[in-house]
Amino acid sequence: MKKYILNILSLSIVATILFSSCQDDKLKALIVTGQNNHNWEVSHEILSKILVNSEVFKCDVAVSPAQGEDMSTFEPDFEKYDVVVLDYNGDKWTDETQNKFEQFVKNGGGLVIYHASNNSFPQWEAFNKMAGIGGWNGRNEQSGPYVYFKDGKEVKDNSPGNGGSHGPQHEFIVEHRQPEHPILKGMPSRWMHSRDELYSELRGPAENMTVLATAYADPKKGGTGRHEPMLMTIKYGKGRVFHTAMGHVGEERPIATQSAGFIITLQRGAEWAATGMVSQEMPADLPNISMPLILHNYKQYGLDELFNRSKKYEFGKSQKYLNLISNRIRLAEGDVKKLKAFEAKIIETLKSDANADAKNYLCRELSWMGSSESLPVLEELTKKDATKEMAQFAIERISE
Ligand code: ZN
Repeated sequence: MKKYILNILSLSIVATILFSSCQDDKLKALIVTGQNNHNWEVSHEILSKILVNSEVFKCDVAVSPAQGEDMSTFEPDFEKYDVVVLDYNGDKWTDETQNKFEQFVKNGGGLVIYHASNNSFPQWEAFNKMAGIGGWNGRNEQSGPYVYFKDGKEVKDNSPGNGGSHGPQHEFIVEHRQPEHPILKGMPSRWMHSRDELYSELRGPAENMTVLATAYADPKKGGTGRHEPMLMTIKYGKGRVFHTAMGHVGEERPIATQSAGFIITLQRGAEWAATGMVSQEMPADLPNISMPLILHNYKQYGLDELFNRSKKYEFGKSQKYLNLISNRIRLAEGDVKKLKAFEAKIIETLKSDANADAKNYLCRELSWMGSSESLPVLEELTKKDATKEMAQFAIERISE
């Protein structure tokens, strides 16, 4: 009897999986925007692009009335969505809309709090619990403790003072405190973020909150000297909240949102908030600790784009694109088919009008992963002074 029940159970699990894989199973995200002390006209489009680029989301946008206008008509249908992404810092919503939002999260809806959204609604108790911590707009010791890391441990500090500060924008290192969390697992645990505001002195109820990552606010850069929370998860009822304090968008180029680390954690954090899991594969190009990895168009470079950009490389200048190529080749080690595809791209580039320095770099890659198919183009390169040495080196290694 027991066995029979088990069989029925496993059959129904298989049926569920089959059924869901046949549907348009993209998750539905709603970006809520329309008022912000930031450039929301730009930022909400960036957030939408980032989420859609993950290929697990489709996105709608709810734009509120402008600041000071009648908010009574603003009633987004949260229940239709798997996750709500807040890009909002402005007027209070109606009690009814607030209630619907609370019910949505309490009943298991996902929520993403992005950058200055954690400034909003200082008097809305439930919202502050969802955000965990926030800043500005009158936040102080009555809002809850400051949260930061000291000597590797989380500190909740009830000392009096205003919530929310940041020094001038700069690049800074993000350090993972929960590297095994599904949102972060597989990423380097320390990476350089692009120029951004380093939100500091955030404070709030901080209940059921896990700090996933921090950044050191260096006093030399106008910082607090503390390790400030950058990424957080919060449990609110059955709902999951992902909170990123990063991603400033003002009038200048929004470089903080082009940081690969910001993009990857937002994509994965939003999926985790929606479902409690992360199905996205960790991308090939990951940020490292030495310099920010900036993604144009908010997505990973295609192979053609990487090779095209690397053609202009000159010795002494940034090797970024070539490094990314090398990194991907190393990830493909042992996969004959993938390595062949890389070899074909390298041969094509060696035949092109790429700079000699770029060709020399690629010859070095060929020297360990190339095959006899590379020999003709390498022979050609030995006829030119600028490339003959590296081409000869590659030929010798390949022929060994
Ligand atoms: Zn900002």
